[in-house]
Amino acid sequence: MNNIYIYSNKSRSSNETEQLLHKKLDNAGFHVLHRLTKEADLMVCIGGDGTFLEAIHKHNFPKVPIFGINTGHLGFFEEIMPDQLDDFIFHYKQGDYTLQDLSTVQIKIYNEDECYEHVGLNEVIVKGAQSSSIHMNMSIGNSFIERFSGDGIVVSTPAGSTAYNYSLGGSIVDPRLKLLQVTPIAPMNTTAYRAFTSSILLPSDLSLNLIPDMQYNNTIAIVSDGYSTVYEGVNSISVGFSDKIVQLMRFEGYDFWTKVKSKFL
Ligand code: NAP
Repeated sequence: MNNIYIYSNKSRSSNETEQLLHKKLDNAGFHVLHRLTKEADLMVCIGGDGTFLEAIHKHNFPKVPIFGINTGHLGFFEEIMPDQLDDFIFHYKQGDYTLQDLSTVQIKIYNEDECYEHVGLNEVIVKGAQSSSIHMNMSIGNSFIERFSGDGIVVSTPAGSTAYNYSLGGSIVDPRLKLLQVTPIAPMNTTAYRAFTSSILLPSDLSLNLIPDMQYNNTIAIVSDGYSTVYEGVNSISVGFSDKIVQLMRFEGYDFWTKVKSKFL
């Protein structure tokens, strides 16, 4: 538990926090790594939620626990502010912390020749490229559910339920629950098109399958935690749980609902 890697965005306050933390960790006998290697016991992430998501995507969802220091705006994943560095070092040295497991979502996109995969900690989004509406047949497990028409759908994890999903009217989900939430973006609900207008919750052993309607352009944008990729000639898409887990270091006494209240009310 001696090797610590620090990932930071390059804002002024993050830089200052990184330098100070580096000095304090040296003084406390820790070894600060210059890159994330197998020897790392902890990754400290300095920034906001955007930086946190960037760090896990850049490092391909590392297995090492992550501790967040908030110099960003909202800071839902982060545990402390920059003026609490001594608390962090004290608690970490004492082993006085818990690890919060966050599940992730995986999307597979099939075209004629290939299968492409993305993983999201917050969510994956399926939408029409260039802001066009999207039409697709949706099934859950082996059951056909609906022909969706609208701007797209968001499949969010419990950790991502407080992000884009929440802005769309989806529910906030305690991360101890193992489920995925499918939330429509501007579903069309007319005599021409019919789609659920509320979120649907899926248990961990069921996947969501989507077949884009071939009459329309099947160029589709997939957005995973804000990172967008456009695919052409998409035949089908499946979304389910990923086996990747993100582990967050939390102080003893961390409570998800207290955090929700402090950030939203
Ligand atoms: P971004 O500017 O990096 O993030 C947008 C806002 O979402 C920021 O305030 C960010 O917090 C906050 N956020 C991120 N993850 C969160 C979480 N799990 N719980 C609560 N708030 C969270 O936007 P981006 O680069 O396009 O995408 C990153 C994430 O932002 C996406 O995964 C998506 O969920 C979310 N997003 C939300 C909306 C919306 O609500 N309308 C639109 C697009 C994207 P910080 O200020 O600490 O960075």
